[in-house]
Amino acid sequence: MSVFTRVARPAILAAGRRDGLRRTAQRLPITRAVVHRFVPGDTVQDAMASVADLRDSGRMVSIDHLGEDVDDIATAQATVRAYLGLLDALHARAETASAIRPLEISLKLSALGQALERDGEKVALENARVICERAAAAGVWVTVDAEEHTTTDSTLTIVRDLRADFGWVGTVLQAYLKRTPADCADLADSRIRLCKGAYDEPASVAHRDAGEVTESYLRCLRILMKGPGYPMVASHDPAIIERVPGLAAEYGRGNDDFEYQMLYGIRDDEQRRLAGGGGRVRVYVPFGSQWYGYFVRRLAERPANLMFFLRALRD
Ligand SMILES: Cc1cc2nc3c(=O)[nH]c(=O)nc-3n(C[C@H](O)[C@H](O)[C@H](O)COP(=O)(O)OP(=O)(O)OC[C@H]3O[C@@H](n4cnc5c(N)ncnc54)[C@H](O)[C@@H]3O)c2cc1C
Repeated sequence: MSVFTRVARPAILAAGRRDGLRRTAQRLPITRAVVHRFVPGDTVQDAMASVADLRDSGRMVSIDHLGEDVDDIATAQATVRAYLGLLDALHARAETASAIRPLEISLKLSALGQALERDGEKVALENARVICERAAAAGVWVTVDAEEHTTTDSTLTIVRDLRADFGWVGTVLQAYLKRTPADCADLADSRIRLCKGAYDEPASVAHRDAGEVTESYLRCLRILMKGPGYPMVASHDPAIIERVPGLAAEYGRGNDDFEYQMLYGIRDDEQRRLAGGGGRVRVYVPFGSQWYGYFVRRLAERPANLMFFLRALRD
């Protein structure tokens, strides 16, 4: 395991949980300038400008209103209102002709109240349901993000409840978790966004070696490709991307039967190459002022991202 993975990654992710650091970082103009590489802006208008650019270049989008770990009901309700505003803006340019919706939103249940001491799971489900109803009317899909492993059971329970009414709701599974091949088999009939996983999880529940995570990813992807659902390959890793066409062909899937997904600002050239070659590509576009947790996870993913940030601080 590299020094970055073993030492720097857990330290950066731990910094992501410190409120004092978050407040300082959010005030520094330099941090905000660097953050713009990964987050197009604070407002719905900023998000919609990215939607327009990405759609013009043949890519689909999933928009995330940044925020997580909400511990009071008022903030959870404010998140719902923010999503409803976003969905109204998306509705104005929704494209409902194809079975695959080019516009999607991504939700973190912890931003909708999942961690509230009283009835957190119920509150998050009700809030997510309100958002799904508006999304259905707007012709926009919804995918539920994956957070720390301690929330996985609760998240999948909520997703199953949502799917009873909104069968198109998708969810994220994290290949680093040892449980995920079984979750893939259980959920292989639905829309699944498969990612490696971005949190600092213990070895008791997660693979921590980068090679093992990639291996687990490919094992999980095979389960999803074989199943009847719609796999969403969320990775920037060439070792994964190069295996996708072969796996799709092996299970008789054409370009319209799965999609590639990458994060806003990461491997833009590769996103364009895949889309130019006829693949479906969806870009995850986060926006909003609560970017700290998301930004720290990007720094922890890759030495080059951290160096980019440190160079900007130095300059
Ligand atoms: C659409 C989407 C949604 C996600 N949602 C979640 C979620 O809900 N929960 C969660 O825990 N995680 C989520 N993630 C994050 C994910 O778990 C990983 O942390 C993140 O994607 C990094 O893993 P990777 O597979 O991209 O490869 P990495 O292991 O980060 O990178 C592997 C290789 O990819 C190449 N590469 C990566 N970045 C670059 C770059 N900028 N330029 C050039 N080459 C590069 C390099 O060759 C690198 O060695 C999501 C990711 C995506 C794309």
